[in-house]
Amino acid sequence: MAALRAREKGANVILVEKAAVQRSGSAASGLDHARGVYPVEGTGNPDDFAEAFMRQSEGMSNRKLLRIIGEEMPERMFYLEKYGLKIRDEQGRLYLQSGVGTTQSFILSFEGEDLKKRFDQALKENGITVLNRTMPTRLLMDGRRVAGAAVVNTRTAEFSTIGAKAVVLATGGAIRIYPSMTGLPYNTVQCPYNTGDAYAMGHQVGAEMVSFEFTQVMLTLKNYSVPGYAGAISTGARVVNALGERIMEKYHPSMLEKAPRHFVCFAVDQEIMEGRGPCYFDFRHLPEDKLEHYRHGLKNERAMILRYFDEKGLDLSKDLVEIEPAEISTQNGGVSGLLIDEGAATNVPGLYAAGDCAGGGGYCAGSNAMVFGWRAGASATEYAAGTGVIPWPGDAARAESLRALRPLGRTHGPTGRELEQKVQKTMGDYVGARRNDASLRTAVRGLENLKNYLEDLRAESAQDLLVTTEAQNGLVTGEMVAKAALTRTESRWTHRRVDYPEQDDANWKKFLVVTGKEGRTVLYTRELPE
Ligand SMILES: Cc1cc2nc3c(=O)[nH]c(=O)nc-3n(C[C@H](O)[C@H](O)[C@H](O)COP(=O)(O)OP(=O)(O)OC[C@H]3O[C@@H](n4cnc5c(N)ncnc54)[C@H](O)[C@@H]3O)c2cc1C
Repeated sequence: MAALRAREKGANVILVEKAAVQRSGSAASGLDHARGVYPVEGTGNPDDFAEAFMRQSEGMSNRKLLRIIGEEMPERMFYLEKYGLKIRDEQGRLYLQSGVGTTQSFILSFEGEDLKKRFDQALKENGITVLNRTMPTRLLMDGRRVAGAAVVNTRTAEFSTIGAKAVVLATGGAIRIYPSMTGLPYNTVQCPYNTGDAYAMGHQVGAEMVSFEFTQVMLTLKNYSVPGYAGAISTGARVVNALGERIMEKYHPSMLEKAPRHFVCFAVDQEIMEGRGPCYFDFRHLPEDKLEHYRHGLKNERAMILRYFDEKGLDLSKDLVEIEPAEISTQNGGVSGLLIDEGAATNVPGLYAAGDCAGGGGYCAGSNAMVFGWRAGASATEYAAGTGVIPWPGDAARAESLRALRPLGRTHGPTGRELEQKVQKTMGDYVGARRNDASLRTAVRGLENLKNYLEDLRAESAQDLLVTTEAQNGLVTGEMVAKAALTRTESRWTHRRVDYPEQDDANWKKFLVVTGKEGRTVLYTRELPE
């Protein structure tokens, strides 16, 4: 979206993509719903929308940004409709429903299996240069302001630089900083190739970031790293324990399963811990047409779930579907990440962020990415147009080529994968869903020690080099998560401190900012936006 909007406003745009735009990132396999205030009678207004998502994050969001998302998301969907995205039913109607964390109908169901293909088509039709299989390793700076980026081709390890007056970071969250449920690093619900690269770049240049302590936990089908949560809940699935009790009657009697997702995750976790597991999705009370709509949605976004049901012989009208809380990561959807304003600007001149790597906005997933991507494209273009020639930081670029490619010259030393496994083990063991002072201090020490590996990292191929870069970014991100979790001495939203079980509004109703200063991680608080 950022690239499309910037091009529309006349900018010369280069889109740098680590994978390939047609099928990359969290939206690779498609989306099936988009939050917003759609022009259908009785759906509520942008203030209701902002309120619903403020509640989801227990106040840790920016109401203004949420309001903008509610208001502007329909336009983004209508824009994509022009590129063939199917967002209406046969009668031309928008299909709205309430969903996780909302009682109003703010969720548009659509056939988004080909969403990324639609983006690819739009990029081509708008003449945007796309560098697939290319990964930035560092931002290049002219003093405090952005001057471009150093990039490496992930297939050939060829190093190059790109001069840019403005850069929009939109690299998604950090998934591989925690172990996956199956132990297979790329078998994850979220996109495993999103490795916190924007966070590491933000840390490098002193960008303010927030909400790393509010990590995200998924609720997945047992032993199967595929999401299906939002679709199941929107359809009307109940969550029951091994005794057949509808557990959300106890944990969130007013919203039940439509409570914010972390309530349901922690409820399931609690039931299992207290010996009333396993827990299940129960669809058995639903009429056939509802089940058929759910299956139809799965075909768009996650056909694998249908196969899972088939292979296990599960008939939703008769059988329960086992679920479990799994896979921790940074909180996607505009929560953990680079703190942005209404124009998607960060505190670093020329640096913008959007989507899952942007922070402080409020959990609005794809809608956040599309709305603030669009806005970032506009702001970046305006900033660049008003900025004169930027001196090229040649020395920094040369130094970066040596740093970025150094692992290729080494024959001994740990690999990126080994470093990554150590980061994952530390994060999984000590910065999990339930934390305390001792566990977090152990994590911080462990992650600090892992920095000793950096000088010696070894890569035998371009592919290895990619993983070493990702692992280094994961280490930076992991450290920010652990330090933020240690610093916030309360329990709120998805941050559960066993030693501080209460929410502490007097001291902690504020953002915890994390940033990098001369290579160190520093933290301080910031009042929440009005
Ligand atoms: C399975 C699944 C289903 C979902 N369904 C929905 C849904 O129905 N509705 C909804 O609103 N949200 C949904 N979400 C969330 C939604 O997909 C994300 O919020 C949204 O895609 C975020 O957009 P983004 O551009 O920030 O990140 P992504 O879509 O993840 O895109 C990040 C891009 O950056 C690239 N990249 C990463 N690192 C680098 C780097 N260093 N250099 C260059 N490129 C890089 C990636 O390859 C990718 O192309 C779903 C998520 C998942 C995982």
